[in-house]
Amino acid sequence: MLYIGNHTTSSKGYAAMGRQMAANGGSTFAFFTRNPRGGKAKAIDPADVEEFLKIAEQYKFGPFVAHAPYTLNACAAKENLRDFARETMADDLRRLEMTPGNYYNFHPGSHVGQGAEAGIAKIAEILNHVLTEEQSTTVLLETMSGKGSEVGATFGEVRSIMDLVEKKHKLGVCLDTCHVWDGGYDIVNDLDGVLNEFDKVIGLCNLKAVHLNDSMNGLGSHKDRHAKIGEGQIGLDALAAVVCHPALKGLPFILETPNDDEGWSKEIALMREKYGE
Ligand code: FE
Ligand code: FE
Ligand code: ZN
Repeated sequence: MLYIGNHTTSSKGYAAMGRQMAANGGSTFAFFTRNPRGGKAKAIDPADVEEFLKIAEQYKFGPFVAHAPYTLNACAAKENLRDFARETMADDLRRLEMTPGNYYNFHPGSHVGQGAEAGIAKIAEILNHVLTEEQSTTVLLETMSGKGSEVGATFGEVRSIMDLVEKKHKLGVCLDTCHVWDGGYDIVNDLDGVLNEFDKVIGLCNLKAVHLNDSMNGLGSHKDRHAKIGEGQIGLDALAAVVCHPALKGLPFILETPNDDEGWSKEIALMREKYGE
């Protein structure tokens, strides 16, 4: 069973997302928990959630991967920005308990000149503040491309954040293929080597989701510009190898490619074909 889907829009609610994903041939999906620029989230309608759960059961969905607003910066230099990150994450985690047992991924942040070490400590401090024993959601650190002063572009930095977090059982990692490639990990010529490195540094048991994207730029470019599957520098064969890799079996694969539903449907069908479904 391959869990694959795309990042979709949440403005019409959970049931609408579920229906759209079923129409696209998907069995998981991602969405922004609120306007990506931040702001207050809309109230969740329990009837909408109930309808969504029926759709998810009918189409045998795997867990979804909710995405925190990308403007959220847990290691910002300004404390008011970190307060926003702390409050937004705590609120998102409260809201996600309406749909228990899924994933919530976020970009670790940009240290904006404070240095990676200071950034790592600040990110961990926020995680220690927002993670609770009661939550059923697993929070995922996303591997980044290293654009600007982004923290989390090396497996070592991701590990360093995890090391400082107390509730490690509530924490995991989301690997973004475009980001790791842009970060300098050669998943085209040495996928096994990259996954071995991931296992050694972070532990494959901590890998909970994959963002499946091609990249407009070359290995180690630190650019973070996603391309459609097969239209970038990673290419179709390498991305199919990711989807089919035995070490990644059962994980949700999320397309964040520049597409519309028609394009995502094609990519989902193509990956299912490569997977042999
Ligand atoms: Fe992301
Ligand atoms: Fe991503
Ligand atoms: Zn990206």
